[in-house]
Amino acid sequence: MAKSYDLIIVGAGMVGALSAILLAKSSLRIALVDKHDGDYRLSTPPAYDSRVSAISSQSKALLETAGVWQGIPLERIASYDNMVVWDGLGDGHVDFNAETTSMLELGCLVENAVLNQQLMLKIRDVKNIDLYLSDTLESHELSESGVRAELSSGHVLEAQAIVAADGAMSKLRTENAFDTVEWDYGHSAIVATIEIDKSHQNTAWQSFGEEGILAFLPLPSVDQRHFVSIVWSVPPKEAESLMALEVDAFCRRLHYAIDKRFDVLGVTQARQSIPLRQRHAKEYVKPGMVLIGDAAHTIHPLAGQGANLGFSDVKGLVEVLSKAHRRGECLGASNVLRRYQRARMLDNIAMSVGMEAFKRLFSTQQPVFVQLRNIGMKRFNHDVALKQKLIARAAGLASFS
Ligand SMILES: Cc1cc2nc3c(=O)[nH]c(=O)nc-3n(C[C@H](O)[C@H](O)[C@H](O)COP(=O)(O)OP(=O)(O)OC[C@H]3O[C@@H](n4cnc5c(N)ncnc54)[C@H](O)[C@@H]3O)c2cc1C
Repeated sequence: MAKSYDLIIVGAGMVGALSAILLAKSSLRIALVDKHDGDYRLSTPPAYDSRVSAISSQSKALLETAGVWQGIPLERIASYDNMVVWDGLGDGHVDFNAETTSMLELGCLVENAVLNQQLMLKIRDVKNIDLYLSDTLESHELSESGVRAELSSGHVLEAQAIVAADGAMSKLRTENAFDTVEWDYGHSAIVATIEIDKSHQNTAWQSFGEEGILAFLPLPSVDQRHFVSIVWSVPPKEAESLMALEVDAFCRRLHYAIDKRFDVLGVTQARQSIPLRQRHAKEYVKPGMVLIGDAAHTIHPLAGQGANLGFSDVKGLVEVLSKAHRRGECLGASNVLRRYQRARMLDNIAMSVGMEAFKRLFSTQQPVFVQLRNIGMKRFNHDVALKQKLIARAAGLASFS
């Protein structure tokens, strides 16, 4: 016999899990399905997880509303109030700091596993969410009036709509023939946790240079030892050779790539290399189905905005579906789901275009472009109003659209 819900959410990653908690607050009955077992084993500091996310003010506020942020141990959060970006091929640089915008911080760095664990702990307390873990959708049928799905465990579920939050390689997106615009960034990102010789000064450091795009993102210090999470985006062949280097040689390369601002003492978590691809679904909705988070769009991590965009999707979807539920509308109806698409698509496209432009601007090493780029950066650095606007956008406090 089929079990009946208002929504089936597939994918309990950061985006799907947060959407389940916030939608459940509107008394919606939710089935949350994930192929993962939901058990996030945390590494012990200073061996911080090598996958981290810079969380914006708006995302933090959403996580607070969900009662999730409050559960994250303080010693696993690194807030930063400065950001320094520079051109390794010239003398242009831009400083952002929280004070210019009267914000307490520009953002917070949290390990993905820590956030996922807190989301899962919270979900286990919510009565109107049923978890189907280590499970996947075997088959499903969609229509304007609802969805019927069979899970690999044999459970049969019915709901008004299905939310695809199953990440960048979304099976639901491909199975339901959502068209995408996508291309390779020609970059792989190497991520790792490293120890540095001195304090990171609660600052996110980012170099755009000959050695690729390199970010040193602050992590909590332990016993006066200092750590950062790196995201080093380089062409795939270069990533292969960096991954093949012995740790000492890798640390030396990092020291030069960050313009000798820090001595790199060691790597505390295994390096990972992740191929980067820009992807954007042309439509986010079909009758009975909606895409959110990485299932709908992926962007270059250079500005740390992917998950934040996903959280903004969650905010938009919760607003639309809660209102529709109060009005007694069918949640899977195209006219309801299109309201979500209208609310989110422009903003997501604007961010994707912005990331692409940034990546291209800094990819060229032709002297005339490098010179112009550096002049531009210096001018921008003195334009406080423009910097305030960009910070507000990155914090999720203003939109492009
Ligand atoms: C190097 C790098 C650095 C980044 N840094 C930042 C940053 O600083 N700030 C930021 O905002 N963003 C950042 N991002 C982007 C961010 O990591 C993603 O946008 C975010 O993790 C997407 O979350 P999601 O929940 O949509 O997808 P995912 O985290 O991929 O979750 C998808 C979930 O779906 C489940 N799943 C998948 N397929 C199935 C299936 N068939 N059946 C059932 N379950 C399934 C998976 O188990 C998983 O739990 C970065 C990305 C990269 C690559």
